[in-house]
Amino acid sequence: MIGLAPLGPRLSRSLKVQAVTANFLPVAAALLGVLVLFAALWLLQLRVLQNEVVLRARSLAESLARQSELAALLGDRAGLAQIARRALGVEGVLYVAVASPSGERLVTVTREEFSAGDVPERPVSGTPEVLEVRASSKPRFLDVAAEIRRDDPRPAFDWSRPNTERALGTVRVGLSTERHWALYRRSLWGIPLLGLLSLALVLSVQYRQMRKVLAPLDTLIEFTRRVASGELSHRAPVERHDEVGELAMACNEMVSQLERSRAELLKALDAAQEASRLKSEFLANMSHEIRTPLNGVIGMTELALDAQLPPEVREYLRTAVDSAHALMGVLNDILDLSRVEAGKLELASQAFDLEAELENVMKSFAVAAHRKGLELSCDWPAGTPRWLVGDPLRLRQVLANLVGNAVKFTHAGEVLVQVVLEAESGNRVLLGFTVSDTGIGIPPEKLSLIFEPFRQADGSTTRQYGGTGLGLAICSRLVAMMGGRIEVASRPGQGSSFRFTARFERAAGQAPAAEPAELAGLRVLVVDDNATNRKILAETLGGWAMEVETAGSGAEALALLRQASAGPHPVQLMLLDAVMPELDGFETARRVRQLMGEQAPIIMMLSSVGVTADGRRCRRLGIARYLVKPVGREELLEAVLETLGRRRRPSEAPREPHGRSGGRTLSVLVVEDNPVNQRLLEALVRAAGHQVQLAGDGLQALEAWRRGGVDLILMDVQMPKLDGLEATRRIRRQEQSTGEHIPIVALTAHAFDGDRDRCLSAGMDDYLSKPVSRARLLEVLERTARLLPAP
Ligand code: ADP
Repeated sequence: MIGLAPLGPRLSRSLKVQAVTANFLPVAAALLGVLVLFAALWLLQLRVLQNEVVLRARSLAESLARQSELAALLGDRAGLAQIARRALGVEGVLYVAVASPSGERLVTVTREEFSAGDVPERPVSGTPEVLEVRASSKPRFLDVAAEIRRDDPRPAFDWSRPNTERALGTVRVGLSTERHWALYRRSLWGIPLLGLLSLALVLSVQYRQMRKVLAPLDTLIEFTRRVASGELSHRAPVERHDEVGELAMACNEMVSQLERSRAELLKALDAAQEASRLKSEFLANMSHEIRTPLNGVIGMTELALDAQLPPEVREYLRTAVDSAHALMGVLNDILDLSRVEAGKLELASQAFDLEAELENVMKSFAVAAHRKGLELSCDWPAGTPRWLVGDPLRLRQVLANLVGNAVKFTHAGEVLVQVVLEAESGNRVLLGFTVSDTGIGIPPEKLSLIFEPFRQADGSTTRQYGGTGLGLAICSRLVAMMGGRIEVASRPGQGSSFRFTARFERAAGQAPAAEPAELAGLRVLVVDDNATNRKILAETLGGWAMEVETAGSGAEALALLRQASAGPHPVQLMLLDAVMPELDGFETARRVRQLMGEQAPIIMMLSSVGVTADGRRCRRLGIARYLVKPVGREELLEAVLETLGRRRRPSEAPREPHGRSGGRTLSVLVVEDNPVNQRLLEALVRAAGHQVQLAGDGLQALEAWRRGGVDLILMDVQMPKLDGLEATRRIRRQEQSTGEHIPIVALTAHAFDGDRDRCLSAGMDDYLSKPVSRARLLEVLERTARLLPAP
């Protein structure tokens, strides 16, 4: 597909319409001019017509006057009437009336359709010769009068000289002007009609012309649409040698260029995909190759540590195991980053306890933090959702990296983890996590770099702190996958604060923990020199409706107790930090005891990992409970309730000692091509009290399985001759006839998410990732032993 922008919505006004519209105004103006000209001509014509009618009427009246001379002279009314009736035969004559000189009507003849009453009255003198009569209901007509005189010496149509003879009477003729008006009306409609017709004609001719000119553009538009949809093999037809033709040629050139670039891009893409595939393959192989020997190193060293050893040898071996674990950490980081970048890392979606995860992370850094004398605390405000659905493993990874860095780069002070509910809609929540420290800080110019892979604030060869510079790069990608973002604020020498958000869903069916009613109203004193710890403890205890007071030192606590003991409501419980300047926790406890004797509150000591306290000393000082920081909320609640005797510790199920479970000895077939791993697995399985058979590849495994007597197969995936997946498939096929099912557990060094699915779909029952953890292996052995029928 070519990345051309779509051509957009269909044109709202086509070029043709626009061109015609643009031409419309001048054409209309020209037509208007023509119309005005026509109108002027029409007016002229009207005048000529009018004159002609008047002339005709007058000559008719004159002629009748002459004809009537004799009859008028003789007073012959019948003769006059006859002449008048004859005149009615002339077209358009409506009536003829003859009057005496005194104005008396002698004769009036009218057409049948014209009533005699409608003949207008005329005053005897001062009337115009021609009178136009307009009546809406009757035909319009002209009333023309002519005097009857004797022997008119004037030529027939000479009206310029007045006839001086005495008039014998007057003849009036009514001549209809209807024909004249009809002619006028016809021409009145005809002219604009003609104008409109010519306008329509001009526009249609113009439109046709425009279509002819623009038709090749339509073809070009259709062509570019096809190009946009990815059809690059077509070319636009070049039909004319004008601008449109040139446009078509330019388009063709552009498409050819595009086709060439696309072919090159596809080639490059193929190469890149192939390179990426090779990289993934290489990573998978590397992972296998590095993890397998490392697995051997860790497993064998741990086994060696189980033996009786001189202390310094034990120390060497511990260091070796720690280094191997560190190496495994680096390897995991590199693999994680590659997986994220290759889009192969998928987030799980499972219900988990956020509080437990946080405690887990905090506990795992407790030793390192306290070894450096750092306060490590977690602020968990009430109302923060606890049961969530998401990927706890990846969340823990991000938190562990941030807390690990904070501890690593801080020499004095504290490391604080805070969680807040930032937003929620329905059952979706956005949580904000902040990890802040009082460490060395990061220079402002390095702040934007540290989230890039392999970048460190101090990248020099003389740098003081180790690390690969991958942790934050992985964190920022994981956080983005969790729908959040990560940012940092830092001041060199003062500390850093990493803040990230992540989206989760609330886990259904998990009721919020009920407030322990037993603790409500109990008065408790928190003694800690670290203000953050004091605040967090006070908030937590206050959240259980306890009445909390705080003291920043032993002396302050003693003063407070002295004061309170006098009152009616003494302090019942005291949470005492073991390590404080001046009066430490133990000394404070001693003095409290001294001061108050049996009235002393119950004391719970909170201490760092490094501070040891023997039971006798604690009892002597009246310390009822000893907790190692950081203390999780749940753990604190349990401890407080228990110490106050409000709830008994749930009895723990007696743990099975390491080794065989249920008294069942399994015969385990270990299929592994690497001799070191073979020996390690053999040692681990034997140490758990089970029997071992060994096979070096899939074919040997099939043989051993066919011989029988195997309860469980631990099957490596990558092996020569026949790999673990194929060997499993063959076993499962053969089992179909017997209906049996031997448990097969995959052993794989592959670290890709799809591996688990591949193993399960090949017919394996479970999956152990290398390096195989002793605990996981024992779990598998125990489960298998439980499922097998008793011998
Ligand atoms: P690594 O810790 O392995 O070097 P990271 O990606 O976790 O890699 O961190 C990158 C760099 O960011 C560190 O090398 C350090 O310079 C800086 N950095 C991270 N966290 C902190 C912190 N809390 N205080 C000071 N500097 C830090």
